[in-house]
Amino acid sequence: RAKELGKSRFKVFNQRMHEEALRLMALETELRRAVERRELEVWYQPIVDASLRRVCGFEALVRWHHESMGAVPPSEFITLAEDSGLITELGEFVLEEAVRNIKRWNRREQKAHHGNLFVSINISGRQFMQPDFAGYVEQHIRNWNVNPDLLRFEITESMLMDHGSMAVDTISRLRDLGVHMCIDDFGTGYSSLSYLQRLPVDTIKIDRSFVAELGDDKEGRSIVRSILSLGYSLGLDVVAEGVETPAQAQLLGEFGCRFLQGFLYAPALPAAEVDTLLSLENPLAYLAMSYEKDDF
Ligand code: C2E
Ligand code: MG
Ligand code: MG
Ligand code: MG
Repeated sequence: RAKELGKSRFKVFNQRMHEEALRLMALETELRRAVERRELEVWYQPIVDASLRRVCGFEALVRWHHESMGAVPPSEFITLAEDSGLITELGEFVLEEAVRNIKRWNRREQKAHHGNLFVSINISGRQFMQPDFAGYVEQHIRNWNVNPDLLRFEITESMLMDHGSMAVDTISRLRDLGVHMCIDDFGTGYSSLSYLQRLPVDTIKIDRSFVAELGDDKEGRSIVRSILSLGYSLGLDVVAEGVETPAQAQLLGEFGCRFLQGFLYAPALPAAEVDTLLSLENPLAYLAMSYEKDDF
């Protein structure tokens, strides 16, 4: 009896696994098609410099709107793209789009108005570790004639843990090119203090799970404060991700966090909406107003 039960459970389990495998295969085919047909889009989420009170840059976030499945979130397809090798092409597409917009958003007339605007791009482990990634970037920076100072790469702590010194070499080479390096989702991995000290990076991004804990909870606050003091003692910039409420922004300000990103200001926007935003006298004032309107 028990054996029978076990068997039937196994059957159900097996069937679920099978269905999931089929779903992923179908999704991969669709993704391959989308990449080939360039049906993916890159959207841009504003990052705010609280000290200069302006929008100082954007994070590039890939978007896939499938004609029948609708919006497929990156959490669904980035891993798939990594596992299938499609990430290389996807990553190249994101990089090209981002660079094109870096150039558009930093034309002389706009620069006079808004200062330099950077674009920060997520680079997944497999893309970052492909042979001579730094060489590829170097060649493109030259071809595109883009200011590397406005180009930022975000890599995760866990990727660094997985790839060790190879990753550190690539980071150093990219930094020598003038590209700005960020550690994304900081605090979710296990990097030690001494490890972080040896990493040639410029910025850490506090994972949004910590920002979400910034309530009246004392512990939540002390985690954010210690990440900030760690970053500042190493001379790094710190960006808080996932800022959703004025109270969180207020606290982060009190703790001395200069850079803020989150739905409080704006979600990722299509490039055309960024164009509109940048045509305004004061984009930040507009973003602040639009959240008031939304009654957050
Ligand atoms: P991430 O790099 O940590 O990006 C931040 C994510 O948080 C984005 O989700 C963004 O929409 C979301 N977010 C921003 N502000 C808030 C907020 O205030 N509240 C909440 N709840 N969420 C907020 P998204 O676009 O779904 O991307 C998820 C992850 O997928 C990214 O995490 C990144 O790891 C990956 N990803 C996105 N685009 C790319 C890409 O072009 N290449 C690679 N390799 N990975 C990407
Ligand atoms: Mg990121
Ligand atoms: Mg992040
Ligand atoms: Mg993430």
